Amino acid sequence: MKIRKTLRNVTPYIAGKTKPGAIKLSSNENPLGPSPKALNAIQQELNHLNRYPDGRSGTLISALADHYKLAPECFIVGNGSDEIFALIAGTFLEEGQEVITADSTFSEYNFSGLLFGGHVIKIALRDGFFDTEAMLAAITDETCLVFIANPNNPTGTFLKQNEIRSFLKRLPNHVILVLDEAYAEFATHEDFGSGCDLVMDFPNLIVTRTFSKIYGLAGLRIGYAMAYPSLTQEIFRAKQAFNVNLLAQCAAAEALNDHDFIQKTLNLCSEGKKYLYEALDRDNYFYYPSEANFICIRIGKDSKEVFDDFLDQGMAIRPLASFGMEDWIRYTIGTQEQNEEFIRLLKSLRE
Ligand SMILES: *Cc1c(COP(=O)(O)O)cnc(C)c1O
Repeated sequence: MKIRKTLRNVTPYIAGKTKPGAIKLSSNENPLGPSPKALNAIQQELNHLNRYPDGRSGTLISALADHYKLAPECFIVGNGSDEIFALIAGTFLEEGQEVITADSTFSEYNFSGLLFGGHVIKIALRDGFFDTEAMLAAITDETCLVFIANPNNPTGTFLKQNEIRSFLKRLPNHVILVLDEAYAEFATHEDFGSGCDLVMDFPNLIVTRTFSKIYGLAGLRIGYAMAYPSLTQEIFRAKQAFNVNLLAQCAAAEALNDHDFIQKTLNLCSEGKKYLYEALDRDNYFYYPSEANFICIRIGKDSKEVFDDFLDQGMAIRPLASFGMEDWIRYTIGTQEQNEEFIRLLKSLRE
């Protein structure tokens, strides 16, 4: 049996390794659990599981439209933002066309490009930041998609809104920018601005968000994109009829307005960051100031060995060798107790 030529470059995703009982701080999940409002909505909806879900996620889209003050036609909902990236590639990318992204960033952009036979060009980060000049210079007539994560995973760095705007101004009309804002809810820097404010100014911009991180719903699989209706409505062509399940749709609509939970999550993250920065500074570790719910730290040792060592002691973190950052790790900010344990493990590395 022969597989498609394009798939020969694709290897199945390998999830972060962990072990039963270990504290998992390797996938940027919410350490406070799922949104309680979402859980309540799921309980209410269980009796309706005999019904197919709304294929257009209409109720959720109305809630999103209210939230962002955009028309409902600007939205599309997916089975996680991962599905949205693949839908975007499936809608716009012709085999052999180019996809531009960074070397040290989320691997799903590469996957989506390869899945549809794209040629993926990875531009090196510059000092941990997307190098927008080098990305623009790499664009050709054959470029179809550009993927930027803002804030970036795994570095936690961000591009300012005016940088995104000037990038878009210089981007040729035939190229779509996919701006992945999976962590935007965590960003507090005054120069951070969401791409959702730019959606109606640039008909070649798609902004994606997820319920997996701040809302604590990674296991349900739900994310969404916002763009000019002429873009989103085309993406519907590539979408399966019932891509997002009933429970995910109703949970997400409630989670969006679970302000108490969102605030608690943000407080935990900012207090954790403060504690971790102080501890890392004291021990002279280099890290990128993060606008997300994780910190990217230069450990100065083989990250896979550090990973094994920490896992033996009951904590899973993310080694960044697969991101081309051999001696870096990514730590998801946890509870105060978990953060203290992490710092204790770090100290033990130097003993
Ligand atoms: C976690 C993450 C996502 C979320 O993906 P889902 O499929 O919505 O769970 C998207 N982009 C980045 C950069 C992420 O780290």
